[in-house]
Formats: sequence, C-alpha cells, structure tokens
Amino acid sequence: MKKELQQKLFDRFPNIFRDRNKPPQETAMCWGIACGDGWFHLIWSLCEDLEKVAPETVAFQVKQKLGGLRFYVKKSSHEARRCLDIAEVNSFKICEWCGRAGGPEGSKGWIRTLCLECRKKEQVGWRPWHETNFFWFRVGKFFRDLFVWRGQNEDQV
Ligand SMILES: [Zn+2]
Repeated sequence: MKKELQQKLFDRFPNIFRDRNKPPQETAMCWGIACGDGWFHLIWSLCEDLEKVAPETVAFQVKQKLGGLRFYVKKSSHEARRCLDIAEVNSFKICEWCGRAGGPEGSKGWIRTLCLECRKKEQVGWRPWHETNFFWFRVGKFFRDLFVWRGQNEDQV
C-alpha cells in the first residue's frame, strides 16, 4: 500500500497499529500493510469496527493471500474474529489495486481479486509497486538471514 495511505491508517488507528515500528522478530507490521491501495477503505472500516467492538486489538500482519485480505491480530476475541471474517469475505468483491468492484481469479499462488480493467493490466504483466517492492525486500531478507546464519555457524567452529 502507498506510504501516504498507510500513514493515514496509522494516524487514525494508532492503537491497532501500535507495533508498526517494532523489529521483525516481534511483528510482521514492520513490513507495513502488504496489500494494494484498493483495500484502503475496507481496512479503514474494519479498523473502525474493531475500535468499537474489540478496542484492545493489535495488528500483527496485514497482507493479501490467495486473493483475500488477511488481517492477523495478536490476541483475537470472538468479536474481533467476526469483524475480520466479514472484511475477508468482502475483500473478494473489491479490486485490490483500485477499489472498484472485482472478483478473484488466477492460479498457482497468483490469485488476485481485481476489476476488469486491472485484470487486463495484470495479464500483460503489470504489477503494482508494492508487490515488486515486497519481492526485493524478501530477497534482501533472505541474504541477511543467510549471513547471520553463517556467522553463527562460524562462531561454533
Ligand atoms: Zn481495479
């Protein structure tokens, strides 16, 4: 998600996103909101609902998986679970990239909920920046972890 939009959510719901600056060992929120801009309003109203019925909710990871919104929280209550489930169901009807009406489609781990316009872009290979960005972030993390792992092993020898 675009930095400006993400910041709006962080500013409006500081409690839900209170772990956003914590290290990756503690939370996946350090990676930010890992889905397209089209779900901004969906996440906004989900957070409004959580604030009302489960104000102690803290987000652990927010991402797109298999075409749906996955909003993981640290401690879940029955009330929070209901809001999260409803938001996930609704995410399959909203284009993840632009917010218009859409539907899930795709195969082999590349299922996306998109509108017709965005589907055309996807088919010619266009990807929103956050997905390419996230990919390079993961590549970077892989090599950092490998380094740390090698370092630890060399210490033991
Ligand atoms: Zn779209």
